[in-house]
Amino acid sequence: MQNQYFHPSIIKDISIKESGDFNGYQIFFTIKDQRFQFLVGNSTAFFPLAVKHFFQSHEQCTLCQDTIPAVPIGQLPCTYLQTRQDALLEFLQNDLQKYKEHQ
Ligand SMILES: [Zn+2]
Repeated sequence: MQNQYFHPSIIKDISIKESGDFNGYQIFFTIKDQRFQFLVGNSTAFFPLAVKHFFQSHEQCTLCQDTIPAVPIGQLPCTYLQTRQDALLEFLQNDLQKYKEHQ
């Protein structure tokens, strides 16, 4: 089934890191040249925790329309992505599984 919200033409520059703060992963990606950080817990299955802005400059988010300061101050949840984080996780599931198997 096609993911109705997320698609490789929209989500770019995906990179995954293991979290030092909790049992899980941080996934970074860009949408329309704006960077986001997706926190995913790792248990018997992956589960979404939060999606935050990760902007390098003070600007308006094209998704939630909020004006967001640069990181670390602007590392705040994106309401647009938060409400779609199950679909986002589904989209990133394969990348995450591959990362987990090869670390
Ligand atoms: Zn936003």
